[in-house]
Amino acid sequence: MPTEIRTEVLVIGAGPGGYVAAIRAGQLKKKVVIVDKDKVGGLCLNYGCIPSKALLYAAELIKNFEKAKKYGITAENIKIDIKVLRDKKQRIVNQLVSGVDFLLKGNGAQTIIGEAKFIDAKLVEVTSSNGDITRVTADNVIIATGSLPFSFPFLPLDGKKVITSKEALEVPFIPNEMGVVGGGYVGMEMASIYHALGAHITVIEMLDMVCANADKQIAQLANQRFKKDGIVLMTSTKVTGSKTLSDGKVELSVTGPEGEKKLAFNLAMVAVGHKPITSGIGLEKTGVKTDQRGFIQVDSQMKTNVAGIYAVGDCVGHQLLAHKAFKEGEVAAEVIAGNNEIEMDYRVIPWAVFTHPEIAGVGLTEEEAKQNGHQVKIGTFPFRAIGRAIGMDELDGLIKVVANQKNDEILGVHMFGASAGELIAEAAVAMGFEASAEEWGKIIHVHPTLSEAVMEAALGVNKHSIHMVNK
Ligand SMILES: Cc1cc2nc3c(=O)[nH]c(=O)nc-3n(C[C@H](O)[C@H](O)[C@H](O)COP(=O)(O)OP(=O)(O)OC[C@H]3O[C@@H](n4cnc5c(N)ncnc54)[C@H](O)[C@@H]3O)c2cc1C
Repeated sequence: MPTEIRTEVLVIGAGPGGYVAAIRAGQLKKKVVIVDKDKVGGLCLNYGCIPSKALLYAAELIKNFEKAKKYGITAENIKIDIKVLRDKKQRIVNQLVSGVDFLLKGNGAQTIIGEAKFIDAKLVEVTSSNGDITRVTADNVIIATGSLPFSFPFLPLDGKKVITSKEALEVPFIPNEMGVVGGGYVGMEMASIYHALGAHITVIEMLDMVCANADKQIAQLANQRFKKDGIVLMTSTKVTGSKTLSDGKVELSVTGPEGEKKLAFNLAMVAVGHKPITSGIGLEKTGVKTDQRGFIQVDSQMKTNVAGIYAVGDCVGHQLLAHKAFKEGEVAAEVIAGNNEIEMDYRVIPWAVFTHPEIAGVGLTEEEAKQNGHQVKIGTFPFRAIGRAIGMDELDGLIKVVANQKNDEILGVHMFGASAGELIAEAAVAMGFEASAEEWGKIIHVHPTLSEAVMEAALGVNKHSIHMVNK
């Protein structure tokens, strides 16, 4: 006999979108049930943001040993114990997952581990791994089922030698030669990790550069640096096939500017984007509309076309980022609780790529601003002119502010350099409060810090950077 539950809010998926929706709905005194077929925390905590950043931190430590030589500090015999590294990464993940569990409980949400499927728009059946069935009748349902990596039929994943980031984050071994298919942020972060661990990395990217969705000038700087560090970038190149060789290596067939080639790797990681998880969940029983790519269509209050059904996070598209999902989860919960004023604002969503150095942005790139018909003025400031960056030997860095020629409005901010993932928050705050470039540049920043470069770039928009000759 299935267990029957009635609730005011049912959340399907306990990743960043779902768990934040459940916490906020609980805070707003709603009765909440949250279901996940795997673990709370979703892709982000278990197989994405958190484990990758734990390993990227380890990669940074390794890089710092190399840099230390310039300061007269030499450490002999640096060894990497992969088991200790894996255990540390897993402890970090587990700590955060139990933190989310604690927050859900603390806000009164009931968690069920099992796979959810709609029976109709108000009734969802949850099947746990031991076959137990719970039927949840809900006044409101928030779909937060996330996304899955894409794969190609000509590049089948085997989970061992041809893998996605999920398996790569387990660091199964340190390959001699690793091929990374896809030079987006997941591909480049994983390339950075394995490069620091000692693998020879070749990134195969269809577009003419990696991290191509960044501002062009910033992406070019990043591409130059990756190459200088020894990561091979095969751009404008497509993978057309793969096979396993008799020595256990994976052979990728590629075609690019130099014609067709065959490349052998000990490990190939595929990171060519994500698709929404919206099939297999009984969505057709509800009448909820998806677009051609399967993303659920929602309005700015995260409402689908069916009354009482909301959707948040990767399954609704836009940028597939955890912090975007967090905010959408909050919006859905607020709207369900009767706060009709609130809606999602997609104008200011910062992003970061945690490579070495980091890349980050918010708002329009210079190219996008021009395509949108804006006359732009640009302020840039290099880390080479920043005392703190020189002291840290982090000279490769640039901050770029794109402003509207007409009214000095900040349209976008883009950066490459140490701590860009932290520095971008300041740009998001300036844009969020609609400061002009002039107003932003007037704010006093601590000396000596990397953040002075951000202030100087804002001043540079109107040609009054102080620590550089303005042209
Ligand atoms: C390697 C990697 C690194 C990343 N790094 C970053 C980063 O640094 N910063 C950042 O912002 N983003 C990062 N992301 C992206 C981020 O992980 C996602 O944008 C985020 O997890 C989306 O949250 P979500 O709640 O929409 O979905 P998810 O986190 O995918 O959660 C969805 C949950 O729904 C569950 N589910 C699905 N179907 C069902 C069902 N039928 N029944 C029950 N449960 C179900 C799943 O088990 C899952 O737990 C990274 C992604 C990857 C792959």
